Amino acid sequence: MANPVARIDLDALVHNYQRASEACSCPLFAVVKANAYGHGLLHVVDALRQQADGFAVSRVEEALELRSHGVEQRLLVLGGIMQAPEIKFASDNSIEVVIHDDKQLAMLESWQGSDKGTLRVWVKIDTGMHRLGFAPSHAKSVLERIGSIKHVELVGVLTHFANADDLARETTSQQLAEIAPFEASADNISLANSAAILGWPDAHKGWGRPGIMLYGASPFLNRTAKDDGIKPVMTLRTKLISVHELKQGDAIGYGSTWSCPQDMRVGVAAIGYGDGYPRHAPSGTPVLINGKRAPLVGRVSMDLITIDLREHPNAAVGDSVVLWGEGLPVEEIAQYADTISYELFCRLTGRIKFRYEQAP
Ligand SMILES: *Cc1c(COP(=O)(O)O)cnc(C)c1O
Repeated sequence: MANPVARIDLDALVHNYQRASEACSCPLFAVVKANAYGHGLLHVVDALRQQADGFAVSRVEEALELRSHGVEQRLLVLGGIMQAPEIKFASDNSIEVVIHDDKQLAMLESWQGSDKGTLRVWVKIDTGMHRLGFAPSHAKSVLERIGSIKHVELVGVLTHFANADDLARETTSQQLAEIAPFEASADNISLANSAAILGWPDAHKGWGRPGIMLYGASPFLNRTAKDDGIKPVMTLRTKLISVHELKQGDAIGYGSTWSCPQDMRVGVAAIGYGDGYPRHAPSGTPVLINGKRAPLVGRVSMDLITIDLREHPNAAVGDSVVLWGEGLPVEEIAQYADTISYELFCRLTGRIKFRYEQAP
């Protein structure tokens, strides 16, 4: 079988969690939104059950899936509640939710409460990301209003950085200054994503929220996992399914975008954009064949890629082709494809087989 396989190294995941925990010296919500960044939600959560202080997701639905799977840790919903019925689901399942706008606040104020307990909320303050959150000028009154809602418990205050991945930009320090006056307004605070955990010690307060670093990709521009002391978790692999000799001038693939500069060997491997490999990966994007680099030539198609085998005289049908992971940093492939590792992970399709590995 030549189906592409994503091998998930759960020991590397645990290592990366510990790295985050040591770097931050704070409790962590492991961010497992979007199917654990495409790595498989329940497998990832099970592997981290011993270590993780809590888990964070985007949507109430994702948190409910974790509770019904038996996860007992704290759960935080970053996107908060969208509709009134979610309030009861969250409260009845001890799911903490982020409140980031007036509409949510109004929903909480008109909620009648549940006999199973209070709803635990975090207030998100927009310190410069300008996506979700209350403006600092408005946040004080929001905190007071939340404090006076009978069935609601204010648990924490959080904010999110726009540029923590770029250590040369000043906006992170500005955001830290904006949140400082609110640090004592609740029992908990949460500031740091992966980039802040690894690169911004001033953000090591309260609860960290590492995502991408858990999966072994560097959050920083122009760096790879190794530079940050983390290990790749996913290795995406397929096989060569055809090898042939082409003539000088032969054009390869749709659009005939690449022509052989000489007589040469070209390999075809079983993966394409229908599996989630980026169609925008241009000629020159590396893969590993039997552990050694080889460049793509021609366009990525739905099920197949074509590979320059001039440096691989012995490559043969059935040989392993690594697209990213062990030995080939996903960050590098992301750069070739003009995207970020996050997107490469998230957009793998259901055609990929996942294989989970963990030392006994
Ligand atoms: C996704 C997300 C994170 C995790 O970010 P990484 O860059 O993957 O570490 C943290 N906080 C919020 C609010 C998020 O949406």
